[in-house]
Amino acid sequence: MMTEPTLGFDTLQIHAGARPDPATGARQTPIYQTTAYVFRDADHAAKLFNLEEVGYIYSRLTNPTVSVLQERIAALEGGVGAVACSSGHAAQILALFPLMAPGKDVIASTRLYGGTVTQFSQSMKRFGWDARFVDFDDLAAIEDAACDDTRAIFCESVSNPGGYVTDIPAVAEVAHRLGVPLIVDNTSATPFLCRPIEMGADIVVHSTTKYLSGNGTAMGGVVVDSGNFDWAASGKFPSLTEPEPAYHGLRFQETFGAMAYTFHGIAIGLRDLGMCQSPQNAFLTLLGTETLSLRMARHVENAVRVASWLEKDPRVEFVTYAGLASSPWNERATRLYPKGAGAIFTFAVRGGYDACVKLVDNVRLFSHVANLGDTRSLIIHSASTTHRQLSPAQQEAAGAAPNVVRLSIGIEDADDLIRDLDQALAAATR
Ligand SMILES: *Cc1c(COP(=O)(O)O)cnc(C)c1O
Repeated sequence: MMTEPTLGFDTLQIHAGARPDPATGARQTPIYQTTAYVFRDADHAAKLFNLEEVGYIYSRLTNPTVSVLQERIAALEGGVGAVACSSGHAAQILALFPLMAPGKDVIASTRLYGGTVTQFSQSMKRFGWDARFVDFDDLAAIEDAACDDTRAIFCESVSNPGGYVTDIPAVAEVAHRLGVPLIVDNTSATPFLCRPIEMGADIVVHSTTKYLSGNGTAMGGVVVDSGNFDWAASGKFPSLTEPEPAYHGLRFQETFGAMAYTFHGIAIGLRDLGMCQSPQNAFLTLLGTETLSLRMARHVENAVRVASWLEKDPRVEFVTYAGLASSPWNERATRLYPKGAGAIFTFAVRGGYDACVKLVDNVRLFSHVANLGDTRSLIIHSASTTHRQLSPAQQEAAGAAPNVVRLSIGIEDADDLIRDLDQALAAATR
């Protein structure tokens, strides 16, 4: 079912993709806990396998609960289609898979989630894919890093954990001049705060593990396609434009038009890489999306309160939050992300590494965990945990220096969060 484009965000986050269950009338989307689907007859089965008819075959490819999630996130991002998968990291591989080949490269921002830096700089090499890291505030450096083998540009909208905000419209322009798509990881901002496709991005990826599921219950990822990129124009993307031997020479772009990249993600990506999302996790994530705008508004309000309080505290050296006037990215954040700069930021504690370790050991309300985007407030010392595989230079570039602690501000009472940090800072700097 197509979703009316005129519906507002708050309506789409509840209704997009969903309808009463045709078999029972169940109003909430059921968990279709099944691996396979009965074919009407042999002819129906053959059509499904030839991609001549769209339907359910096997849950590694498609599942009705997962399909609702795909349609919903595509609608919230303003894309034509989406493919859900098992985690945010799976989404990144799934997004690049149709574009890359041995010897090809992706140009990535230096300001990325620590796990992404590791995935791009280490494991991707084993596919023969190369990643070149560049400061995305230097647009000329992006063009300088590009070559004939470049196949994508990759960045985050609001980057975790450095409080950095990407100028997506400017980066999209560079990508399109180079004839390659811009992929934006929109995990930290969510489509409530940022809609990368409206700013020129071609593909959006998410770790739905974070704010989209929202309650810290379910791993998941999604790849959303804008449907805007012309895969044939450059001749650089044969997977999408040339005959596919596994489907009797079918050409994805010619056959599926704007849905080519999405169909490829399912018919080749999920089929062969196998990182499908479980229907149970899709269900939990759907529950989360229903309250996304309410939660994000409160996350942002609390983040501004806590960050402003920390910035005035003499035990704190600095706070890097694009929502504060002191941030070098505040003007950009205000211009591009008027609803707020997210709820993840870092601050530096006077007393360095040791004080940071004491701080995380003394919080009572904040949880010391590696997650973010939970209803609960979370804290982590990145240099000793999520970013410990990175070199000191990479840590510094990612905003995860040894004296820095990352907060993911939840939706509790801001006064309680401030009181908790106050007592933990007292213990840490005593
Ligand atoms: C968590 C995260 C990822 C990885 O997602 P998983 O679901 O943990 O695999 C990627 N990018 C960002 C910005 C993240 O926060």
